[in-house]
Amino acid sequence: MSSLNELSITEASKKLATGEITSVQLVEACLAEIEKRNSSLNAFLEVFSDAKEQAQKADERRAAGESHPLLGIPLAIKDNILIEGRKASAASKMLQNYIATYDATVIKKLKEAGAVFLGRTNMDEFALGGSTENSAYGVTKNPHDEKRVAGGTSGGSAAAVASGMALGALGSDTGGSVRNPASFCGVVGLKPTYGAVSRSGLIAAVSSFDQIGPITKTVEDAELIFNTIRGQDPLDSTSIGMENIKLQISNNKNIGVPRKLLGKGVEPEVLAQFEHSLEKLKAQGCEVVDIALPALDYALSAYYIINFAEVSTNLSRFDGVRYGLSLKGESLFDDYATTRGEGFGAEARRRIMLGTYVLSAGYYDAYYGKATAARVQLRKEFEDAFKSVDFIATPTMPYPAWKVGEKSDPLAAYLADIFTVTANLTGNPAISIPMGTVEREGKQLPVGLQLTAAHGDEAALFAAGKLLY
Ligand code: GLN
Repeated sequence: MSSLNELSITEASKKLATGEITSVQLVEACLAEIEKRNSSLNAFLEVFSDAKEQAQKADERRAAGESHPLLGIPLAIKDNILIEGRKASAASKMLQNYIATYDATVIKKLKEAGAVFLGRTNMDEFALGGSTENSAYGVTKNPHDEKRVAGGTSGGSAAAVASGMALGALGSDTGGSVRNPASFCGVVGLKPTYGAVSRSGLIAAVSSFDQIGPITKTVEDAELIFNTIRGQDPLDSTSIGMENIKLQISNNKNIGVPRKLLGKGVEPEVLAQFEHSLEKLKAQGCEVVDIALPALDYALSAYYIINFAEVSTNLSRFDGVRYGLSLKGESLFDDYATTRGEGFGAEARRRIMLGTYVLSAGYYDAYYGKATAARVQLRKEFEDAFKSVDFIATPTMPYPAWKVGEKSDPLAAYLADIFTVTANLTGNPAISIPMGTVEREGKQLPVGLQLTAAHGDEAALFAAGKLLY
């Protein structure tokens, strides 16, 4: 039998149910792998010292008759999701010593289900980036080639799952941060429909884009976690009850491919893997058609303008007075400036400045106003497209994981998000599924296929995902 930490959640869950294994054994296997690999991968910023005790409790709950499929399953949690009484730093110096005072709603739900939290995982500071190189606590390395990044911003969560240090993980996705590292690390990542999962207790980056999503080894596992954490929440007024959405799963799966967009900088081997997955879907009875989505040309610019705007307002709460880092200057203004200058890394400061600029009176109409108009147009085009296709397919990322330091120019890094940001602009659910590997310097590097579906149609993503992986 393979080591217990290599099991999928579904496999482990069956073995727990029959009594073949215990949660304590599962957690011990993960902790042994963490001991071996975390010092070089830097996926976990902290491993919780009570993980085994949590497992013990889960085993006791099972002995008392409980049976949720996540009972006793060890998970890794991104460092921007609050767990009461534990540190949550969003990988920032600003929140280095911040202890969460309440549980995020997703954590509450996972606790009820009996999941075990192994630790908190590394990320780009405040979820700003795409490679986990913007963490204040060092970069997370890719388990497939440690010279390369794990992707981001949920790089720690993806690396933890891909290397077998955790059975599954939670990440957050503002413009691809679950799907990008899933693609780079060869695991599954789901960005749910906007509002499907409560954002209460998620440290905000871009409130109108952010969604918490699972990162797992299989599509089935992603479905299991999603079904556990989703649902309307009185603590998040933007959350929706998915039970009210009628899922219309047609038998004849039409897949739309925006061919024009694929011409933009996708590496040929990634494109070859993409065509190969389309062939596989066709062999399963799917029909593939070319679709035009003209507003896609504006997606990246609109995304970044709205991102900067909302980041600048969301991060204004870190002022050195209310909570987090607090440094003394010569005046009150100097207190703010010193705290924010020291506490935020370069990318956070860049976005705060650009966000303040695009929202300023003289430029609002030229930038923020235009970006929101493009967003509305894109949403409309997506709604129209989903009248004739069931999925929109693209590669998740235009290339495999890059080398640490290779994309130090922020604009080059932003361009990598060309395929992922649209689902956040439109609120649609999207999944990244491993679609093969490409070779770089003798290493096989994973690449992912992204499928986007109509609002509330996660079920279609899981069904198609299972056909492929
Ligand atoms: N790379 C994107 C950005 O930097 C996405 C980040 C995210 O999803 N948190 O904005």
